[in-house]
Amino acid sequence: MTTVIDGTEVAEGIRTDLAGAIETLADRGTRPGLATVLMSPDPASETYVSMKQRACEDVGIEGVHVGVDTDAPASELYDTIADLNDDPDVHGILVQLPLPEHVPRYEALERIDPQKDVDALHPENVGRLTAGRPRFKPCTPHGVQRLLNVAGVETEGADVTIVGRSAIVGKPLANMLTSKTAGGNATVTVCHSRTRDLKAKARGADVLVAAAGRAEMIGPDMVSEDATVVDVGVNRVDADTQKGYELVGDVDFEAVKPKVDAITPVPGGVGPMTIAMLLYNATAAAALQQDVDVDLP
Ligand code: NDP
Repeated sequence: MTTVIDGTEVAEGIRTDLAGAIETLADRGTRPGLATVLMSPDPASETYVSMKQRACEDVGIEGVHVGVDTDAPASELYDTIADLNDDPDVHGILVQLPLPEHVPRYEALERIDPQKDVDALHPENVGRLTAGRPRFKPCTPHGVQRLLNVAGVETEGADVTIVGRSAIVGKPLANMLTSKTAGGNATVTVCHSRTRDLKAKARGADVLVAAAGRAEMIGPDMVSEDATVVDVGVNRVDADTQKGYELVGDVDFEAVKPKVDAITPVPGGVGPMTIAMLLYNATAAAALQQDVDVDLP
């Protein structure tokens, strides 16, 4: 019988368990503050940002939202980041991606104070993760790692195939799963659009992580029996719904599910975990900046 790994439930547990750390900070006069900055031309980004703001409110994190006009010069985004860097009530800054084409992503991300970089995309934080001394773990890979752990999937010695090599998902996840720590010690193959014989690499995996952004590209012929499949993808496809679309993952869930040991759904899998780990990082950032010891779940 296939286990459907319930990301909503695991995320809820993490959010509940964060309360203790947030209370400890409150006792020391600090309420964690998380700023979201939205300049993205992608209509889905607005939904993501408002979900993140709502989640902050639910757990007692002070959410601040700043919108920057999509057509504004890059300098306006840079000034916004500089102001948030200087604001002592803001402990975490998240610049929602993608950015408009005229704004160089890395130039923007490098301007975030690394201590407030809750997405862990500043080169200093990328370097720290690579060196095995992470300050923050990037939210989506951290969420994937937690899901595997909660589902009882042993990563030590496991063959993991990740489809996707982005700086936000594939690369940091490969780093975390190969690290010589609990939840790591896997043998990881990272695939991308130039990979030869993707099917064989996917089929050979004990754990298959799909993060390509291609609707239902992973079919039952690409998984082995008793694999665990984690679907990071979120794709809008036309559908006869009120909105005119529905969200599907990179995995053909209905076709793959009967064949494998465990699988995450979309929605309700990795998505809620990404938000929970963002709240985790915002709390960790506040504790770090205020020099308060907290118990993080
Ligand atoms: P990117 O577009 O940055 O990266 C996609 C990666 O997949 C690239 O490395 C690309 O290869 C690879 N790829 C694309 N098509 C194929 C293919 N046919 N075969 C093999 N590899 C392929 O995407 P992101 O990493 O930002 O996001 C990936 C997906 O995850 C998206 O659907 C996104 O919406 C979702 N996502 C979900 C989150 C969540 O919280 N649930 C959070 C973040 C992302 P190449 O490098 O060669 O171009």
